[in-house]
Amino acid sequence: MDQSRIRNFCIIAHIDHGKSTLADRLLEYTGAVDKREMTEQVLDSMDLERERGITIKARAVRLNYQAADGEKYLLNLIDTPGHVDFTYEVSRSLAACEGALLVVDATQGVEAQTIANLYLALEHDLEIIPVINKVDLPSADPERTLKQIEEVFGYKPEEAILVSAKTGQGVDALLAAIVQRIPPPKGSTSEPTQALIFDSQYDSYKGVIAYVRMFNGQIRIGDKIRMMATGKEFEVTELGVFAPEMTPVEKLASGEVGFLAASIKNVKDTQVGDTVTTVDRPTATPLPGYRSAKPMVYCGLYPVENVDYTNLRDALERLQLNDAALTFEPETSTALGFGFRCGFLGLLHMEIIQERLEREYNLELIATAPSVVYIVHLTNGETKEVRNPSDLPGFGFIEHLEEPFVNANIILPHDFVGPIMELCQEKRGLYKSMEYLTTDRVLLHYELPLAEILVDFYDKLKSRSKGYASFDYDFLGYRETDLVRLDILLNGKPVDALSAIVHKDKAYHYGRQLARKLKELIPQQLFEVPIQAVVNNKVIARETIRALRKDVLAKCYGGDVTRKRKLLEKQKEGKKRMKQLGTVEVPQEAFFAVLKID
Ligand code: GDP
Ligand code: MG
Repeated sequence: MDQSRIRNFCIIAHIDHGKSTLADRLLEYTGAVDKREMTEQVLDSMDLERERGITIKARAVRLNYQAADGEKYLLNLIDTPGHVDFTYEVSRSLAACEGALLVVDATQGVEAQTIANLYLALEHDLEIIPVINKVDLPSADPERTLKQIEEVFGYKPEEAILVSAKTGQGVDALLAAIVQRIPPPKGSTSEPTQALIFDSQYDSYKGVIAYVRMFNGQIRIGDKIRMMATGKEFEVTELGVFAPEMTPVEKLASGEVGFLAASIKNVKDTQVGDTVTTVDRPTATPLPGYRSAKPMVYCGLYPVENVDYTNLRDALERLQLNDAALTFEPETSTALGFGFRCGFLGLLHMEIIQERLEREYNLELIATAPSVVYIVHLTNGETKEVRNPSDLPGFGFIEHLEEPFVNANIILPHDFVGPIMELCQEKRGLYKSMEYLTTDRVLLHYELPLAEILVDFYDKLKSRSKGYASFDYDFLGYRETDLVRLDILLNGKPVDALSAIVHKDKAYHYGRQLARKLKELIPQQLFEVPIQAVVNNKVIARETIRALRKDVLAKCYGGDVTRKRKLLEKQKEGKKRMKQLGTVEVPQEAFFAVLKID
């Protein structure tokens, strides 16, 4: 295909503004997917994505489009995730495009991730087409949304396209705007080959499948290619495009988007962001890379049954093949036994991995409360990173501690500014600025400790703003703060998996609340169980779980065997996700109790 007829673009938006639905309509209008075959959200193929209505992995798809003047075009659409945890995926996809559709929900207006994603797109120099979506809804206010994008971003109302991704209204005009406004790729087929790996996937037969955007030159089946980051060479066995199924092609040329397989067995040989070149006509300069993904949140994952340890390791290895951002290393807990300390991009990423381990790999897991990475300066002059609260050295060994802070941008109606500022204050936030986006919408800028966001910031933000506030954050850096380690003793024995790192001023409150919560969550045992919260060897709170008196089976009057069996089975069911800690049985919820404290 003549390169001047290619358009590579992506869709960016705040979550739920209609990115996936719009992608579906574009597929349908260009005939990539038959209307009859159209299941909702074709690009969100993972079950979990559909259920949760989010897009995790970026996907690419090729569309054939015939413009009104009869000219044929080839459009490559790259879908991007909208959640803050997956910013790095967004960034990868953007680098493969020349343009972006900025989708704004006409019933909601500009939200925090609208801004964050637009800034990312502008960093990559993309041509932006503002798209006002959901105009079919009675509550849509396109006029106001147009005014907003003009005031906030400076886009003229005439530049925006009004659509309904649901009914298809405006989609034709949008397709016309894509070919008119988004520039064709710049590279040349006659230059030395440069292809950018923007994603990869592991296939047990073909090996690694690298998703590539060709910037210069071409790649054919049988070509020897070189990965510029590692210098490793491979022979191309398969090339293809996403139409939307993987469809084989003979070659990929400058400007195109597709995939390649080359019997690559190790995912580390196809680093996302790396440049592929051909050994025949190698380029001297790799393409600019991406921001690499760095885990920000850690938690311990332990199998409920110790025999599942190797299965858990195998499952994590498998998941890692398609998820460069997931990290894990073996960890031992006196309470939980052998498990792994796993690193994630954020809470959603963590939940998704946990759910996939349980669903797709049939594992029963105990997860410890999520923690950030602390930097500890020891009295002997050394520094170390702590990813697990129970690894924090004793009081006397610590000179000072640093914790990660983020820049948080919160967008909300001005009526809620009071309660939300209060929330940020409670979360140890530092007020930076407040800006009126329009007469009634405010952009609040705070610096917040990441650890405080992990706990329940998002839920509280939503409840205190009646669902109207949205927020986005990016990593700011490490700062010294006054933190202490809070330990929990059950039956007089410390439970390392329940330790937490908390701010000194909040330690008493936390200790008391945590002990109370644990008392609620840990079922009664046949004996009395004291719960103690300890800071610096000082007990700051104590609760007691009273002993269980009655035998549960007594209810069955001894007679009815089937009822008895049923009850035992029910109990067994309930035992799932329980861990025997010494003589005390502790349910999964107890390990998350620290997240539920007000
Ligand atoms: P994403 O998170 O940006 O991918 O958003 P989705 O495409 O999943 O859409 C979020 C919700 O909005 C879904 O329930 C869609 O059915 C709905 N939706 C998307 N576009 C439209 C639209 O144009 N009109 C209406 N009425 N609903 C829409
Ligand atoms: Mg989506």
